[in-house]
Amino acid sequence: MSKPKPDWAFALHGGAGAVAGRIYTETEQHLKELASTCRDRLAAGATALDVVDYAVTELEASGLYVAGRGSAPNSAGHVELDASIMDGRSRAAGAVAALQDFVNPTRVARGVMEKTPHVMLAGNGAVEFARQHGYEEVTDPTTYYTLPVGVTRADIHDIAHGTVGAVALDTTGGLAAATSTGGTFGKLHGRIGDTPLIGPGTWADENIAISCTGIGEHIIRSGGASSVAFRYKSGVPLAAALQEMLDEVARLGGDAGVIAVTREGDIAMPYNSEGMKRASAADGSGLFIATFEDEVTF
Ligand code: ASP
Repeated sequence: MSKPKPDWAFALHGGAGAVAGRIYTETEQHLKELASTCRDRLAAGATALDVVDYAVTELEASGLYVAGRGSAPNSAGHVELDASIMDGRSRAAGAVAALQDFVNPTRVARGVMEKTPHVMLAGNGAVEFARQHGYEEVTDPTTYYTLPVGVTRADIHDIAHGTVGAVALDTTGGLAAATSTGGTFGKLHGRIGDTPLIGPGTWADENIAISCTGIGEHIIRSGGASSVAFRYKSGVPLAAALQEMLDEVARLGGDAGVIAVTREGDIAMPYNSEGMKRASAADGSGLFIATFEDEVTF
């Protein structure tokens, strides 16, 4: 007998930059707590859009991942934040790129979606918009930003990466996705990766919601999240649609991870890097937390 379709489902990621041998207990614990709140909210009828917004905002504020507070400076010495959010049913979408010194770039991205006719604002224009609408600013960047767990300033000049993202299906059948990052370590001033790009980094439509992590340059050139959605829409099974994108990223010389949830409530979280911090749950099943292959048990 096939399993009944879950009423709701979601997945979270804390980046595909996990390095084998490092200990991620703190982030796994954090993902578990956050996932349990997301589960309660979806079960109580929250929209997929509100849940992905909430989850990514919390991940940004925690300072535990390379996004929001945990972002590292670029090669010019300051943090530039990228974020995007998309609602599947309406196809409404918003994004910010190279935004400096706001606490919750994903909230600003949602503001772009809801308060402007545009999809993306970048750099000084994004700052002006965020100020005009009263989004919380980082008052002292020298003390606000932390480095992600297990990473030191010495690592910044290597291309390392990490990002956060969330995808959700709500009880009305709505799907949404959001992704946020400080980008790759040591990136050039003004460099923008896949994360704020609606299409490569974040995608949600009436069938599927997807958030990517990994080396943005390769994800962009592979087609990224929307290429998975188009394969899935044309009948390619979920796992194969995701694997084809990851294979394309690998062929181009990069690595990546993807989280996806479908309108059927199926969840997939594949990666071809060493590990990806991740969590998921669906109506009728327990929380799943992992960084490497094996599920973490608490
Ligand atoms: N995709 C992000 C970027 O290239 C980094 C990451 O996911 O780790 O900016």
